[in-house]
Parts: sequence; structure tokens; C-alpha cells
Amino acid sequence: MKNKKIIITGGAGFIGSHLCQKLLQLDNTVICIDNLLTGKKNNITNLFGNKNFTFINHDINYQINIKSDFIFHLACPASPKHYQKDPVNTLITNINGTYNILKLAKKYNSRIIFTSTSEVYGDPDENPQKESYNGNVNPIGLRSCYDEGKRAAESLCFDFNRKYKTKIKILRLFNTYGPLMFKDDGRVVSNFIFNALRNKPIKIYGNGKQTRSLCFIDDLITGLIKIANLSDNVKGPLNIGNDQEITINDLCSKILKITNSKSKIIHTDLPEDDPKMRKPDLTKIKKLINWKPKVSLNDGLVATVNYFKKL
Ligand code: NAD
Ligand code: UDP
Repeated sequence: MKNKKIIITGGAGFIGSHLCQKLLQLDNTVICIDNLLTGKKNNITNLFGNKNFTFINHDINYQINIKSDFIFHLACPASPKHYQKDPVNTLITNINGTYNILKLAKKYNSRIIFTSTSEVYGDPDENPQKESYNGNVNPIGLRSCYDEGKRAAESLCFDFNRKYKTKIKILRLFNTYGPLMFKDDGRVVSNFIFNALRNKPIKIYGNGKQTRSLCFIDDLITGLIKIANLSDNVKGPLNIGNDQEITINDLCSKILKITNSKSKIIHTDLPEDDPKMRKPDLTKIKKLINWKPKVSLNDGLVATVNYFKKL
């Protein structure tokens, strides 16, 4: 991807800011659209001097009119803490916001890459999760504003493709972590590292036997861009992430060791509908691109700890 005009919605967020950076390095023009709901200007201030970078403070729930070759559509609060704070806004952003961005893609014949999520599988009764698995989502629970929102957004993408031939690619991202995560984001890696570095208590929700599979940000960004470059007949959905599964207890032990922390562990209630296991089946994506996650959990955590030490 080179010399393209690219819109990134949610470009001031954790993943979006890495994507802005990488696509600028590859000689593209990047327009970051973000209303700073969970994103922070700090994450992109180093890009403000770049003549190929524009930041637009805008809520995608309102229409916008900008021509582009590609749209990476990320805008949506992603951490349970944030997406549950205003669940109505989360659901509406996924539906109405995605509708506005799809209309933009249709108008200018841009290719839209939509970042969906492993949450579309809900609390899965299959492990690992294949794209063909339709999931086990509670449609009225605390997580449904996000889970059902993303499922509806996937549906909208496919309906625009079937009805208007809009060029779509849907990627289902699994848990991703790394530098530029926000310390107050509420997700497991940032919470554990932030507290471990201060020797403050670490809260494990439930018995800690639930699993996640954690992908380092650089691996995710490489995969996202490779997929975006594929021809229009590749629409997805495609899982993307790291398939090394770990329990939350083991993740906690690893982080305590890396940070040489004296933090105590406290067990609190497991939040409603918290998935008990999560691991991507990566067969489909590996057939399409020459890619696999390369960064080990240990190396990725060390890099993230080093970033958090500087905050
Ligand atoms: P994030 O919260 O750091 O970034 C989301 C960005 O979207 C923020 O900058 C926020 O301000 C912006 N935003 C939210 N609502 C908006 C609106 N109405 N208009 C404009 N901007 C808006 O989250 P992230 O981890 O960077 O996630 C990015 C995308 O990837 C999200 O769509 C998320 O669902 C998806 N995803 C992330 C993960 C992960 O582990 N990080 C996993 C699965 C899916
Ligand atoms: N979790 C935890 N302590 C925390 C934050 C999260 O034990 O401080 C658990 C949470 O219950 C879940 C897992 O870690 O089982 C991952 O949580 P996160 O919010 O990062 O992402 P998601 O649940 O969306 O995968």
C-alpha cells in the first residue's frame, strides 16, 4: 500500500494510532477521523508535523464527505469498561456510524476494512473459534451493545456489498495489546502492568481460569495491511490475532515476574457474560497471506512494560 489516500476512523485510539503511523511510513496520505471518546491526541501528536497527515475531530454518527481509496473503519470504544459506560452510544455508533462510513465508501468506491471482533462469538462453546461458528451471544446482556453492535455492523457491510457492490473486508480482531494502550483503559494487560509496576493490588475477575489469546500490536498491524491489499473478492470475515492461549492466572504470573512486582492478587466477581475461553482459528487468514504472529507473549509483554515504565 503506497501513495494511497486513506481514512482511518478511530485513528487516535490504541490500534488506530499504530495504523496511522505505519501507513504514513509506507508513503500514504492519512486522514484520521476521531471524536476522542476513548482515543487521545497524545497518541498522534508526533504525526501533526507530517504534511501527509490530517486529524479531523468528528463523530462518525454524523455524516462526513471525504474522498479516499481506502477506509480503515475502527471507530468504536473497545474496552468493556468504556463500551459499557454509554451502551446506547456504543450500539448506535456501530450501526449508525458504520452506516455513515459505508455510505462514504459507496459514494467514492473506496475499499472499507471493518475491524470487527472475537466478541461476535460471545461466550463460545467451541474452541478455537472458526469464522463459520455463529457464536453464543447474549442479545440483552451488558456486553450486547458491543457484541450485537459489531454483528449488526458486519451485517450492514455485507448488505452494502450485496446491494451496491461496496468493496468490503471484515476482520475479526482478537485481543491485542502493546505500547500506546491507555493506562486507564480497563483491559487486562494494561490494568495488570500498570498496577504491577506500582506494587498495587491486581484484581483477577473470577477464578482466573478463563482464557484469552493475546496478539502483539505489530503483528496485528502487519496482518491488517496485508489483508487490505488483497483483491475485492476477499471479503471475510477473517479472524486475526495470536492463537497462543493463556489463562488470566498465568498471564498475571508472567506480568508479576517481568515487572518483579510485589503486588497482591485479589479475586473479584467475574463480570456478566465474560467469555470463558477465546482462541482464534487462523487457518483462513494463513491461506490468504504469508503471515503469522511472530512476537512471543514474553517479548510483547516486555515491550509493553517498558512503554508503561515511561508513563
Ligand atoms: P480504542 O478505544 O483505543 O480506539 C477506538 C477509537 O475510536 C478511539 O480513538 C475513539 O475515540 C474512537 N471513537 C469511538 N467512537 C467514535 C465515534 N463515534 N466517532 C469517531 N471516533 C470514535 O480501541 P482499540 O483497541 O484501538 O480498538 C479499535 C477497533 O478495533 C475497535 O473497533 C475495536 O472494536 C476493534 N477491536 C479491538 C480489539 C483489541 O484488543 N484492541 C479487539 C477486537 C476488536
Ligand atoms: N480481567 C481481569 N482483571 C482486569 C481486567 C480484566 O481479570 O483487571 C479479565 C476479564 O474478566 C476477562 C479477561 O481478563 O476475562 C480479558 O479482559 P479484557 O477486558 O481485557 O478483554 P475482553 O474480556 O473483552 O476479552
